[in-house]
Amino acid sequence: MGNKAVKFGGSSLADANQFKKVASIIKSDPKRKYVVPSAPGKRFPDDIKVTDMLYKCCELAGSGVDFSDDFQLIKDRYNGIIADLGIDMSLDSEFDTIVSELKSRPAKDYAASRGEYLNGKILANYLGFNFVDAADVIVFDTKGVLLLDETVKKVRQKLKGLENAVIPGFYGKTTEGIIKTFSRGGSDVTGSIIANAVNAEIYENWTDVSGFLVADPRIVENPDVIETITYRELRELAYMGASVLHEDAIFPVRSAGIPINIRNTNKPEDAGTMIVSNDYDFSKESLGHTITGIAGKKGFSTINIEKAMMNNELGFGMKVLNVLYNNGISFEHMPSGIDTMSITVDSAKLAPVRDKVIAEIRREVNPDNIEIEDGIAILAIVGRRMKNTRGTVARVFASMAHARINVKLIDQGSSELNVIIGVSENDFAEAIRRIYDMFINSEK
Ligand code: ASP
Repeated sequence: MGNKAVKFGGSSLADANQFKKVASIIKSDPKRKYVVPSAPGKRFPDDIKVTDMLYKCCELAGSGVDFSDDFQLIKDRYNGIIADLGIDMSLDSEFDTIVSELKSRPAKDYAASRGEYLNGKILANYLGFNFVDAADVIVFDTKGVLLLDETVKKVRQKLKGLENAVIPGFYGKTTEGIIKTFSRGGSDVTGSIIANAVNAEIYENWTDVSGFLVADPRIVENPDVIETITYRELRELAYMGASVLHEDAIFPVRSAGIPINIRNTNKPEDAGTMIVSNDYDFSKESLGHTITGIAGKKGFSTINIEKAMMNNELGFGMKVLNVLYNNGISFEHMPSGIDTMSITVDSAKLAPVRDKVIAEIRREVNPDNIEIEDGIAILAIVGRRMKNTRGTVARVFASMAHARINVKLIDQGSSELNVIIGVSENDFAEAIRRIYDMFINSEK
């Protein structure tokens, strides 16, 4: 029998009721043997995540302030879950250890890691699974960089002979023995590492949505769920602001060819989104839209440069880009004409060096005209099928023209995986809705 690595996010383990859903999901499939929990998340919108409560205690401890009231709230969260689940266990000695550790050595990562650690203890007890401390298997170097090979080796050693295990997410230990966490949301990374180490057939990432959506639901009403997305498409959409998995969660499974399935703990009947590599058998899909998703961001500026005979001037582009480089600005897109060049950059990064950059470009290449246009939004229309479909760009333009939206820039990479357009920030939401209509609603 194969196995599955399953990770449950904070909202999936926020209270006893959620724990019960998680347990029934795990018990409904004997392959779900390796479980990675987050710390208890929010139960309602204004609630506070246990991780944030722990950071606060650590901060208070670090300034020598009494944190017992704040720590009591954390105890209450866990004790509430234990009582409501009706299990026979006590975390009192763990709480005492944490308090005394925070008093003597208030370390941020250690404090935050206890959220997952304690939740893992409860979940293991409730499921009747083995508990494996992530500190014993997830290894970082002294600078805090994950040592994947060493980690995989340790996970395999530790899990050898164990039928199942709960391994808390988010943290590990450095080679010097210091507890270290990933960045926020890092339980996703732990899940991915465990999936790699146990050669899982799939990495299920259980959260509170039924997968990735084709577009931002704050802009498009009730958008479709993406059924299948490749790692590369996901990267494009994530880069353009679609909030998805922790970025570092892709690599460990991708390198091992393990698909990720995003699932909803509150709607386990939904199939969710499959994240797969290019060689996946896409004939399994029921939908086949030309595009996979649309994402975008506001807050860009374009630097528009004009100079007669620019095309004859060797090194023109290099000199301009060097100015940006020397000012610590990376560029996003750079469509150019014969005598014009337009460079899209992040407005916030440009702001502090704006006048300096213009002066330096003037000095370096002596343009006929240089101006900066602010208030640009960039949209990425992403889809692996665009490559084999004619007329995609024409349809993008048609949808913009019908909406009287002026397209300020266009960029299609050679991979034909995406089309990027720039529009005024005022047109941003409408542009997304029109593209959604054109490629999703009209293809239904
Ligand atoms: N509990 C951590 C956080 O809130 C890690 C995680 O949930 O993945 O960021």
